[in-house]
Amino acid sequence: MAETLLGPAEIRELAARLGVAPTKKLGQNFLHDPNTIRRIVAAAGLRPDDVALEVGPGLGSLTLGLAAAVRHVHAVEIDRTLAKALPETVTAPHLTVHLSDALRIRGGAFDPAPTMLVANLPYNVAVPVVLHLLAELPTLRGGLVMVQKEVADRLVAGPGSKVYGVPSVKLAWYAEARSAGKVPPAVFWPVPNVDSGLVAFSEREPPAGADRTDVFAVVDAAFAQRRKTLRAALAGWAGGPDRAEAVLRAAGVSPQARGEALTVGEFAAIAAAARLSVP
Ligand code: SAM
Repeated sequence: MAETLLGPAEIRELAARLGVAPTKKLGQNFLHDPNTIRRIVAAAGLRPDDVALEVGPGLGSLTLGLAAAVRHVHAVEIDRTLAKALPETVTAPHLTVHLSDALRIRGGAFDPAPTMLVANLPYNVAVPVVLHLLAELPTLRGGLVMVQKEVADRLVAGPGSKVYGVPSVKLAWYAEARSAGKVPPAVFWPVPNVDSGLVAFSEREPPAGADRTDVFAVVDAAFAQRRKTLRAALAGWAGGPDRAEAVLRAAGVSPQARGEALTVGEFAAIAAAARLSVP
């Protein structure tokens, strides 16, 4: 890696010079451990011809590692002070800084188009940010995100797991996800009071024959009452328990099953069956 990475002394000095007082509201916990940066960049599986998208570059710790590994980096930062200062820390010409809320950014904002999402995400909006960007950016072939450990566990969970839920199924619509390990609080400044987890994901074809919005509506309904059978949980969505049962049978799914046992393919089959059986 050609670039010098930021350690604790550099992070403190940079924050003091910019007058940055990290805020909880924006999830501002900055990485100050070069080994963790190297680990994230290695685990992301980047290729030199990749275009990386980083949400929340902060003081530039991870951005420096990414800039040394890929042909272009897009960094989306909501904090004006941090966005403005980033090009002074990361002087690479192949960096584009976007002063924006990642939840509002549109795919068309990026040229060249991002191929990999690599980010230490603001924890309070991590799942909506990942799902929003995957929906907006079909050019992404994969990525690696750092999130709160409990959220990482949920994102990679499969059917039957206690923590399998809406984020797991929605991420599975776009990508195959796996855990790439745990990260301790000590590598951040300020030190958070939770562990962090790395989630690596690679793009996959969504299930055929169903519309994403329809499938996500079934998923939301099934998990809104996750202890109920699908016949009961989907009654409101389907227009009554009998109609829910008919749709489930047409999809080849037991009406007595619970949402927590279903794959994303089975949720897609339910949405497709509902569409076919509309009078
Ligand atoms: N990447 C840096 C690092 O690893 O040291 C900082 C990561 S820090 C956990 C999260 C960063 O996301 C902060 O810089 C924060 O200002 C930024 N942020 C918070 N909410 C955001 C949003 N909605 N859109 C873009 N950036 C956001």
